[in-house]
Amino acid sequence: MNKKINSTMDKLVSLCKRRGYIFQSSEIYGGINSCWDYGPLGVELKNNIKELWWKSMVYEHDNIEGLDSSILMHPIIWKASGHIDGFTDPLVDCKKCKNRFKATDLEGNVCPLCGGELTEARQFNLMFKTFMGPVEDEANIVYLRPETAQGIYVNFLNVLNSSRNKIPFGIAQIGKAFRNEITPGNFIFRTREFEQMEMQYFVKPGTDDEWLEKWKENRMNWYHKLGLKKEKLSFHMHDKDELAHYAKEAYDIQYEFPFGRQELEGIHNRTDFDLSRHKKYSGKNIQYYDVAAKEKYIPYVIETSAGCDRTLLTCLVDAYDEEEERVVLRLSPLLAPIKVAVFPLVKRDGMPEIAVKIYNNLKMNIKAFYDDSGSIGRRYRRQDEAGTPFALTVDSETIENNTITLRERDSMNQIRISLDKIDRIIKEKINIY
Ligand code: ATP
Repeated sequence: MNKKINSTMDKLVSLCKRRGYIFQSSEIYGGINSCWDYGPLGVELKNNIKELWWKSMVYEHDNIEGLDSSILMHPIIWKASGHIDGFTDPLVDCKKCKNRFKATDLEGNVCPLCGGELTEARQFNLMFKTFMGPVEDEANIVYLRPETAQGIYVNFLNVLNSSRNKIPFGIAQIGKAFRNEITPGNFIFRTREFEQMEMQYFVKPGTDDEWLEKWKENRMNWYHKLGLKKEKLSFHMHDKDELAHYAKEAYDIQYEFPFGRQELEGIHNRTDFDLSRHKKYSGKNIQYYDVAAKEKYIPYVIETSAGCDRTLLTCLVDAYDEEEERVVLRLSPLLAPIKVAVFPLVKRDGMPEIAVKIYNNLKMNIKAFYDDSGSIGRRYRRQDEAGTPFALTVDSETIENNTITLRERDSMNQIRISLDKIDRIIKEKINIY
């Protein structure tokens, strides 16, 4: 990592800890590599991202249904999906310093840390294994799912029959996935435990290319809606040698991180690979019957697979800004963990009582925050760093004429609004309900 990368990422990591976004997991025991905990603001941001994704998939599309499948599944699923045989990365060891690397991350064939000689690459399976029940033998091995997609495929018939959908239709799921990555890193960019937001769209073979294009556009628009800088987002088309074993055509949505342009989401044409394999391994007739056309077929699948943690990191990186006098997280009001902070200018003259009343009223609908300690300037700065888009301050004029100061985080502009308009104005500005 060069110095600039280090400094941007280091500053973000430190802000995340200071403001309660993200903490190193098991920190009091020295931490555990690549695992992170979301603090009070982090969990709000994550929930907002998941809610926006869920709404954009399940609520906005009449033909997309939700699902929450289990993490532990029948081990044959991973044989059928190709993960037991093929979900591997090439691993090399340094003979001198004993460090391990993913061969495809290296430029030459010497150790990047000590210059030592490397072993031949061997394939390392990324799935975590554990045992189901009290006996730890081969017959009881189960896997922590490395993707949520398979839970969707094996429920294809259940969802189809219970929801009475017709093709094309989709199934959306948000959930944890686990990969024993050889080289996790860049904060929460690559971890061994992470959350995915995946949607599998089942289509008639022959219409798959068209649907892939539609979903590419839909997904890029979603990132624009989050307020991410458009010039930092782009598509990357997979070359033949990059394509996963199941894919006919694939694109990544990439973002320009401080450590380089990297994948944020994968959009894949998975063909009928997964459903055909489950048909073969389960012996069940996983097919779709098109009543109008009187034909049976195994649908093709267009997958949109986004990382929730990676989206969250992207939102933080994109929002981080330093000015001479302050650090500010310019998160979209849709994403901001706290939407509005309420302050009394001073702790006397009846100001705290009015401020508490306003706060109690606001918090019934949105995440609000009350603070009466320290100078007003410091209170504004703390909320700027936390990404809070609006602040309301009760002062002596409030007592005289029932108006209050509304300060906007980005411009630092202050306007006066009357107390009875607070709800409407804040709602309009956040634009969520
Ligand atoms: P990469 O090439 O970065 O390893 P991938 O192509 O294996 O990713 P997919 O299998 O397409 O990733 O997974 C879909 C999404 O899940 C990714 O775009 C990313 O946002 C997220 N994701 C995958 N692996 C990880 C990880 N180890 N940590 C955090 N998020 C991940």
